Amino acid sequence: MNTSNKMRSKGLKVTPQRMLIYDIVGELCHASIEEIITKTQQANSEITISTIYRILNSFCDHELLAKINHPNGKIYYDINMHEHHHIITPEQLIIDMDDPELTQLIQQRVLDKIGINNQVDKISIQITTSLRQK
Ligand SMILES: [Zn+2]
Repeated sequence: MNTSNKMRSKGLKVTPQRMLIYDIVGELCHASIEEIITKTQQANSEITISTIYRILNSFCDHELLAKINHPNGKIYYDINMHEHHHIITPEQLIIDMDDPELTQLIQQRVLDKIGINNQVDKISIQITTSLRQK
């Protein structure tokens, strides 16, 4: 599905500003607000910071983007909406980790603990790594 169809399917009107910001996050994959602002304003200097925030929030509200709380304290925006986990490298990069078996295992463990009357809505693990001491 292309970007404009994706937006329409989530109930959002397609605008040039939304298209630009969504494509920028798509290019970056996991993008900090600073990166998004810089790239957006390089492409169109008339888009204000408050507009960028408003568009990003509406993407999150309409499940077009997910927010990630990076251990460095910053919020990152994730274009990948399928269930996946994250590895944070020693260089502070965010790498996607697809592992449906791990997700299933955790889901089963959680259901065993809290009971089958509950449902697990989302499982997302964040693994922080560092270089080994020599
Ligand atoms: Zn991700």
